[in-house]
Amino acid sequence: MTAKSNGHYEVVAELVEAAASYMDLDPQVRTLLKEPIRTLTVSIPVKMDNGRVRVFQGFRCQHNDVLGPFKGGIRFHPEADEDEVKALAALMTYKCAVVGLPYGGAKGGVLCDPSKLSKGELERLSRGFIRAIAGIIGPDKDIPAPDINTNAQLMGWFVDEFAKIKGAYQPGVFTGKPLILGGSQGRIEATGHGVMLVIREAAKAFNFPLKNARIAIQGFGNVGNYAAKYLHDIGCRIVAVVDVFGGVQNPNGIDPYTLKEYEQANGSVKGFPGTKPISSDELLAMECDILIPAALGNQLTKENAADVRSKWVVEAANGPTTPEADKILQDNGVLVIPDILTNAGGVSASYFEWVQNNYSYYWSKTEVLERLEKIMVDAFKVVYEASQNHASGAIPLRVAAYVVALQRLAAAMEARGWVLV
Ligand code: GLU
Repeated sequence: MTAKSNGHYEVVAELVEAAASYMDLDPQVRTLLKEPIRTLTVSIPVKMDNGRVRVFQGFRCQHNDVLGPFKGGIRFHPEADEDEVKALAALMTYKCAVVGLPYGGAKGGVLCDPSKLSKGELERLSRGFIRAIAGIIGPDKDIPAPDINTNAQLMGWFVDEFAKIKGAYQPGVFTGKPLILGGSQGRIEATGHGVMLVIREAAKAFNFPLKNARIAIQGFGNVGNYAAKYLHDIGCRIVAVVDVFGGVQNPNGIDPYTLKEYEQANGSVKGFPGTKPISSDELLAMECDILIPAALGNQLTKENAADVRSKWVVEAANGPTTPEADKILQDNGVLVIPDILTNAGGVSASYFEWVQNNYSYYWSKTEVLERLEKIMVDAFKVVYEASQNHASGAIPLRVAAYVVALQRLAAAMEARGWVLV
């Protein structure tokens, strides 16, 4: 999987401009959304196992909070630079708005390669990052969560460090926590579950047969893995999966449950019995019904978009398609379901976790998944209708999703008196 280039924030700003041209958006709203409210850059000194200090760089970008406290994950990645974090924070603003959550958008990043850190180093880095950003986060201010290379274990360290700093235990400051620390049932599965729900609803709307539909998935982490399982459960056929180390394909279908067990035992899906190898580039270009990028950003670019032979591209990752690639896919008749809708199941379950923390009263997994279903089904419907019923004729789902989000953000800005009407 190739690295992202710079200019990510500009790309999101362009998406907003494109959507704004399809609606009557107050220019003041555009001005207020143009730059993030705050980006904090921190240096995190960490005592490494060899006794020497190494300084890591980290960011927390708070894009906009007109709809509620800032919300968004923290990623640990060698490319999680300021520009990328800013873009991802803005995506969170639009994601929360499009599914109707009472949150603004934020994102955090620590420039590091966690696979090269020992567990102790990772813990010290995690705690150091929270000490560095503690002043700007809190259950009513900014609520971080997991993202790429961060998980419930890190949230456990985060919660503990924050409790020590504040002298009070406040589980609602982070979501995606271990269950024992106030995590929510269903949070781990939520993003993948949401991906399936959006595909199911879109299939109904567009009359697209899902029985035996061939699914290719790039990425087999939390998102790709559960998306594969839920899609398999509703009768789709998982024909290819790749992770960072390699990939597997079988036109007759791969059982994602045994694939996950194999991956856990072997560190990769590579070599799974009964399959043939496939590279990430080959997967993106393979003939299938639904291609699901569920890994890093900027995977479909102007160089490879014309090779896509899938009928749909469903963006489970954040920002997997560049604007040039988006245009090529559109011209080639590929339906693209945008990230801010497709992967919103994760932050929606985070919202449920936060609500449960605020009440100190916990729900069953069935309850969480039922509520998640309602959010995702409603969000798809609103976006679909906006795409079909636009005065200028049908508009792409991505443009429609931004139109819906911008309408809500504009309404909140007016209601709070941020803009003069
Ligand atoms: N990192 C996830 C996302 O990009 C989840 C964020 C959250 O739960 O706050 O949507």
